[in-house]
This record gives sequence, structure tokens and C-alpha cells, in this order.
Amino acid sequence: MDRQDLRKRLEFYRDLGIEELIIPKSRKIKEEPSPAVPAKVAATPKPVAPPPKAAPPTIVPSAPPLILPEAPRLIPLEPDGDTMAAISADIGDCKRCRLCEQRNKIVFGVGNEESPLVFVGEGPGADEDAQGIPFVGRAGQLLTQMIEGTSAKEGMPLKRAQVYICNVVKCRPPENRTPLPDEMEVCGQFLFRQLMVIKPKAICALGSTAAKALLGTKDGVMKLRGKWHKWRDIPVMVTYHPSYLLRPYNQSAKREAWEDLKRVLHFVYD
Ligand code: URA
Repeated sequence: MDRQDLRKRLEFYRDLGIEELIIPKSRKIKEEPSPAVPAKVAATPKPVAPPPKAAPPTIVPSAPPLILPEAPRLIPLEPDGDTMAAISADIGDCKRCRLCEQRNKIVFGVGNEESPLVFVGEGPGADEDAQGIPFVGRAGQLLTQMIEGTSAKEGMPLKRAQVYICNVVKCRPPENRTPLPDEMEVCGQFLFRQLMVIKPKAICALGSTAAKALLGTKDGVMKLRGKWHKWRDIPVMVTYHPSYLLRPYNQSAKREAWEDLKRVLHFVYD
């Protein structure tokens, strides 16, 4: 609309008794004819309704993320009739995460698959990676001593082979670093299936990685230990990892770990 058209239109409004027009700041009056309104038509003023209000911006709801970040992670359910052999076969020559790149052997688990007690560690170290058996290095020897020595002292002598021992991740993390969350998540599904097949009376989580995988907590061992927690319906006792107990300055932790283990043994075998 040009100036002449605008003047005509304003005069027309004044004739109708409209003395004042409020034009929103955002609306610019163009000097040139709008392409939508041909000049010919615009030149003939007609009674027109006040300019329509600017349409409110359309709010397009964005699609919700597939997994809400704050939603609890769903634990994969175990397949019907699952067995250790089926889990091992499913793991196969696993390449699901980066830990496969430097591993020698997948360390699946060892011991009595019908045991009422399962120990869960973090992940294989160098000795375990070489042999394909969990807890066979120095930390493993201490774990064996703890299981066999404490159970004997408490009057329920147990051999290591009578319990089941496995880890959160089945391949050795390079330089024995802590497994990363995505590695724990991918490999955790196999741990959960192992636990569902065994259905032990209790689980002993060795160290914070095992505690985190089973309980989904970031709390440290000092806070979690000595109390019962649950993975699904199974009681979980968290205690110090044997590697931590091997450090010379952790004497009080050693005493606490023995107390935790006694609690577990009495709960399971009394
Ligand atoms: N540390 C672990 O957490 N697991 C093992 O198998 C050996 C050492």
C-alpha cells in the first residue's frame, strides 16, 4: 500500500468515527504494494476489518526422547529357560564394546552355578585375562582366603569352588582402568542373566563398580557396606574390593570386610 492509499484508508476510518488506530510496533508499513494485494484492488478502499492480529507463533511439540535421561534404566529381562551355556553362547566372540580390542580371554565366571552365594567383582585383571578365570591373581588369592578362612572360622567350612564368582565386565579394561558406564551397561546384561539363572540367596558386591552395576547408585563402598541392599529381590551386601584390601594402609577396611563377609555367610548358610 502506498502513502496515497494509506491516507485514503485513514480518511475512510475517520468517516466511520475511528479517530485512532493502534499499530503494533512489529508491523511495518510498507511503501510498496504488497505482492498479496494487487495495487488495483488496494487503490479502491473498501470497508475493511482492522488488520488481523499477528498469528501467535505455532508451538510444535518436539518428540520426547526415546529414553528420558532421568528415567531409571530398564534392566533387560532374562529370556525364558535361560542357561549359563546360552549366556556364554550369546556372548560368543563378543565385539559389543571397545574392551574386546585388547582382551585375550573373555572371563565369564567360575564356580557352582547353583550356589546360594555369588561374588561379583569389577572386571578381569592381567592374570584373569590370561587364564579366562575370575579372581586368580593376587586379589583373587585374597578373596579365596577370605571365603575359605572366614567360613571355616565361623563353623561352616566352604571351598571357593562352592560359590560362584564373576565380574561386571567380562573383558579386561586396558591398564586395569575402571570400566566405563557404556561398557558396564552392555556387559551388565550378561551379569544380570547369570544372576537370574543362579538365583542366589545373596550377592556380595566387591567394590564400587559392582555396587554401581547392581544398585545403580553412585554412593561409595564406605557408605554402602555393612547393610543389606537389593538387586531385584535378592539381598546384596557391598564390601571392599580385595585389591583395595591389599593396600597396606587399609587395615580397618580389612576388619570391616571380614565383618561384612561373616554377615553374608551367616545369612546364606545358617
Ligand atoms: N578384580 C576383579 O574385579 N575381578 C577379577 O576377576 C580380578 C580382579
